[in-house]
Amino acid sequence: MTTTSLLDRLAQRLGHNHVLTDYDLMAPYLNEERGSYASRALAILRPKDTVEVAASVKECAEAGVAIVPQGGNTGLVGGAVSTQNQIILSLSRLNRVRGINPANRAMTVEAGCLLAQIQSAADEQGLLFPLSMASEGSCQIGGNLATNAGGTSVLRYGNARDLVLGLEVVLADGTVWNGLKGLRKDNTGYDLKQLFIGSEGTLGIITAATLKLFAKHHETVTAFLGLASSQAALDLLARLQDASGEQVTAFELMSRNSLEFVTRRIPGTSDPLSKPYPWYVLAEIATSRRDGAMAELMEGELARAIDMGLAMDGTLAVSLAQRQALWKLRESIPEAQKPEGASLKHDISVPVSCIPDFLERAINAATSLIPGIRPCPFGHVGDGNLHFNLSQPKDMSRADFLAARGQMAEAIHDIAASLGGSFSAEHGVGLLKLPDMMRYKQPVERDMMRRLKTALDPKTLLNPGKVVE
Ligand code: FAD
Ligand code: ZN
Repeated sequence: MTTTSLLDRLAQRLGHNHVLTDYDLMAPYLNEERGSYASRALAILRPKDTVEVAASVKECAEAGVAIVPQGGNTGLVGGAVSTQNQIILSLSRLNRVRGINPANRAMTVEAGCLLAQIQSAADEQGLLFPLSMASEGSCQIGGNLATNAGGTSVLRYGNARDLVLGLEVVLADGTVWNGLKGLRKDNTGYDLKQLFIGSEGTLGIITAATLKLFAKHHETVTAFLGLASSQAALDLLARLQDASGEQVTAFELMSRNSLEFVTRRIPGTSDPLSKPYPWYVLAEIATSRRDGAMAELMEGELARAIDMGLAMDGTLAVSLAQRQALWKLRESIPEAQKPEGASLKHDISVPVSCIPDFLERAINAATSLIPGIRPCPFGHVGDGNLHFNLSQPKDMSRADFLAARGQMAEAIHDIAASLGGSFSAEHGVGLLKLPDMMRYKQPVERDMMRRLKTALDPKTLLNPGKVVE
């Protein structure tokens, strides 16, 4: 089948408006979040439901044309970029909430639902879908599951994979697997849904999911603390978990550089504390109880932490506006880094207890590779996950700085690996981190992954060249 006849058949099936070949119409789907890759495509497909996804996959499989599934296109590792002879299949039109079952604490949604839309739908039923991240207004649940996304509430509720009861998936030959069971327990062989979660579109196309829901929070207390060391952050976390009965929903670390970049570059932000400190923590505890006990608890813990010298200073958010202002400091860091020049970014994880050791070694390594470099680490310290970002020295050229990208990544990832850590904690592998798979994954792990890929996608038609080599 020629590509023209494939596109004709797809247009007949999906409608001409939903097979895009005009460059201007394709542009938003070809744009890559970090500008690191130039994406091209034969066409963009916009099926409206699972049946149309399955039909599209079948047509493409028969024609031998590879498909790159795409959600909100907010991924950070080049997982949704394509080449001239591939087709991007966008899930955006599969955006219905199929049903919410409060008694089962579960909801079934289509893959193209925005994460924020799912949070609101749960909230309207007096329930909580806890997955949360700065991209929630644009990323889709299918993309969240395909990347096993993390975000700011992993500490309490787990990664995306922990929030799934069932999946509906279109396989590489167009077969539909309906695995949308809402069961909490089901020990009947391999847990197939977990294969697709985190596989970044290389094993199947997720078209719907049954998700777990939780009790909605009626009280949320947010604190911002200045600390002398990252070890103090870990000690504080342990205290807060004990005191609150494990009700800590977020525990985010920020370095002094990251707060300085934000207050200098993002309008309407300011340092909430009167003096500068080397490290900061944004800590949040939340409960479904309505007795108002959390504010008192956090106040007491904060005062004790200052008395003990664990925290140097701190402030509590007492209104929603104050809470949002504190979160803005944390969530604006990547945006604030842009006007500071080029940056090198690493998304590492280590066992939580190794965070101080990692930071010391990684900052030393970065500084000795590029004197004058401005480390700007921040992230989900309660999960052992740091965004170890580095901004260029003020007096260095952008090009010279970026030329060190590979060498720097190797140095930082080697340190994480030596502590038993990972080179990709929550962003995935995509294209960007394929070389790291070769360097850090055991041969036996790569071999098992390759065998799974061959079993489920023997013709390598689903997102070829990503994740597995
Ligand atoms: P896309 O970018 O469209 O795709 C990502 C990958 O999944 C690709 O490989 C694609 O082929 C595949 N895919 C997409 N949909 C499907 C599907 N239905 N079936 C099969 N495969 C599919 N990530 C975090 O984990 N935590 C964060 O805190 C976080 N914060 C972010 C903040 C900002 C401002 C930005 C821009 C990104 C952030 N990210 C974060 C990264 C990104 O938002 C997540 O990786 C998100 O899960 C990607 O979802 P998406 O719908 O945009 O997927
Ligand atoms: Zn993150």
